[in-house]
Parts: sequence; C-alpha cells; structure tokens
Amino acid sequence: MHDHRRLGRELELFDTDPLIGAGLPYWLPDGAAVRHALEEYVRGAERRAGYRHVCSPVLGKRELYEISGHWSHYSDDMFPPMDLGGEQVVLRPSLCPHHALIYRSRAHSYRELPLRMAELGGMYRSELSGVLGGLTRVRAIQLNDAHIFCTLDQVAEEARAALELILEAYGALGIRPARYRLSLPGPGGKYVAGADMWQRATALLIDVLDGFGAPYEAAEGEAAFYGPKIDVQIADGAGRETTLSTVQVDFHQPERFGLHYIGPDGAKHRPVMVHRSIVGSVERAVAHLIELHGGAFPAWLAPTQVLVLPVSDAEMPRAAGFVRRCVDQGLRAEIAGPEHGTLGARVRAGRLVPYQAVIGAKEAVDDRVALRLRDGRRPETALPAAEVLTRIGALVGAHSTDLWDTDTRA
Ligand SMILES: [Zn+2]
Repeated sequence: MHDHRRLGRELELFDTDPLIGAGLPYWLPDGAAVRHALEEYVRGAERRAGYRHVCSPVLGKRELYEISGHWSHYSDDMFPPMDLGGEQVVLRPSLCPHHALIYRSRAHSYRELPLRMAELGGMYRSELSGVLGGLTRVRAIQLNDAHIFCTLDQVAEEARAALELILEAYGALGIRPARYRLSLPGPGGKYVAGADMWQRATALLIDVLDGFGAPYEAAEGEAAFYGPKIDVQIADGAGRETTLSTVQVDFHQPERFGLHYIGPDGAKHRPVMVHRSIVGSVERAVAHLIELHGGAFPAWLAPTQVLVLPVSDAEMPRAAGFVRRCVDQGLRAEIAGPEHGTLGARVRAGRLVPYQAVIGAKEAVDDRVALRLRDGRRPETALPAAEVLTRIGALVGAHSTDLWDTDTRA
C-alpha cells in the first residue's frame, strides 16, 4: 500500500499550512472532488435506505454535553469551552446530542419508528499534536453519522440493515472488511454506569452478529462510553487495523435526554438509539481509499474521470466539445492538449484517470473517440462519442468498480 500523505501531496488532493494548524488539513480541488463524490454516494445510499437528513451546528452549550455525558466521560478529547456572553459553548465532539434534541423537539408516535436521522456533519477532537498526521488523525472531522430512534424490538433489524449498508458501500469503494469486532468496555475506561443496560445492549449486538453470519472477535476497552458497538475493521498494507464503520446500541442518551414516543397504548415509552456510521469520518475514509487504490480511484470517485486528448491542435475544438458533453452529463472531464507534450507523454501523465479519450483527425470527422481504459484495455475501434458517454455515464452512475461493461480486446 501507499502512504496517503505522500500521495495526497503528489496528486494535489490535500495539504496543510502551519498558519491553519496541525491536524487541520485543507482539501485541494481534486481532493474535494473525491470527497464530494463520496459524500453524495453516502447520502444517496442513506436516502434509499429510508434515512432523512438534517443539518445541525458544530457548536453547542457546555450544558448539552454535561447532559449527554460527554463532559464527564470524554472531555479529555474535547476543545476547551469558549466564553460567549456569559455562556460557555464548545465545539462538539460528536453529533449525537444535537440529534437527540432534534428528535425531542417534536412529538413522535410509535408509527414513525424506526426514525432514521442522518447527517454528514463537522465535529472536533483535541487530538495531541504528536499523533496528528495526514488525514487519519485530524482535529476537524467530517463525520458520516446517523441515529436511528426505534423500539427495542426494532434494534436488531436496524443494526443488521446498517451492516448491510456498510457492506454495500465497501463494494462500491473496493474496500474489504478485515474482521468484525464486538467492542466492549474494559478495565480503567470511563463508561456510564448500568450493568443491566450494558448487558442488554451487548446481547442484542451478539444476536445481530450471529444472525449476520460474520465471524467476530470481542475486544475489551473499545466500547463507546455510553454503550457497546460493532466495529467493522479494515487493515492497511502493513496489516494495521483501523475502524471506519460502526453500529452502536445506546440506552443511555435516550434516558439522559428524556426521549419518548407514544406507544399503541397511548402511554410514553423510551426509544433506543442506534448510532451507526457507514464510512466513518470522511478524512479517514479518503486516507484509506488513497492508500488502497494508490490514487487510481474507482471511476465514480476519480477527481478526473475522462481525460480528453486531441492528437494535434486541429482537433482542439472537437476535444473541447467532447469535454463539454462529458461535463453536461455530470462527468468530471479535462482536456490535455498538445501544449502538454507528445501524445505518449500525455497518456502517461494521465495514467490514473479511468478513461482517456483520444481524438485524432479520423475520429474528429465522424464524432468518434478512441478510448483507452486505465487498466490498459482499449475497445478495438473508435466508438461513437455518444455511445462512450452513455456507457461511462451508466458505470459511474451505478458506482461500479468495473471500468467497462463488456470485455474489450486490447
Ligand atoms: Zn452518535
């Protein structure tokens, strides 16, 4: 595997500046294109799975985190509060408390459950400067988060569906899970009290893992402070494991925030919160994708999807027209004209781009392009430009990891 920090600089995906600070990378246009493609994919997958999205601010009053339990269990990882007109506000260390308040702001009937609330939102962690590096340990995090408010009977099905969603995303991203981990509390950690609550949540997650048929290992000391979780572990080239995706069962925060729904009996009942993340933090997910693919992203994620190569200046207008048609279809396309060197040099410079469309004198005459796929395959003859657009558009739209829809002979 590759080092995402080195590749991130070489491919101009992201960078840092000492004046912005350690652990606060910024995204360059190509990196932002990858990130936005990932975020749009996640939102689409969530919408199809019945989630509705909300937006909430990255600040909250200190009191909010005292109620949630973050202040007493998690403040070592939080930025110090800011004094603001006699109040203290903090940069949020997680999205859960905001979502609990959004749930609480309206009355809910059992008929609305499970209520799936999602947000790709910012949160902040005061990581020590010694452990910061690239995109894997950052202080400003964009989290793919969601909270499912549901009845106890619905927890297992919602957790199972979340695992399915994670695997579906891994398929599109080319990621393979290394193993599933049941993360339990361990000695010395800061966890909320309630032996019965921990036991019930753990039993639920074990049922989900058993039903899912995935072998897993239990690990002590890896739970969230409010409950146990299933972590989907991934490994880097050196075999080091990290977590992107998690599914957690939480009885604690619904209690702390006094959440309820009206049951069929007309009485108030406490919902359970299932916290789940498909790709985890966008920063860490992109870091892993850079290392996994060495910058050769699946076509739907690639910063430039189509590189258009006019053989000579004479084909520049045709090439520019083809770029325009790509862009109109929602594809990210660039032109690399003869001013960038010989055709061979331009082909090599664009070796990470999934599709190269060469337009010579012959192709220009009848609106065709000679296509070169990143994996070396080339359709035998130049194809009509409209057909190329349709086929690439379909593969990108389906979030396929295949570059072409049929075997093509080189
Ligand atoms: Zn949460």
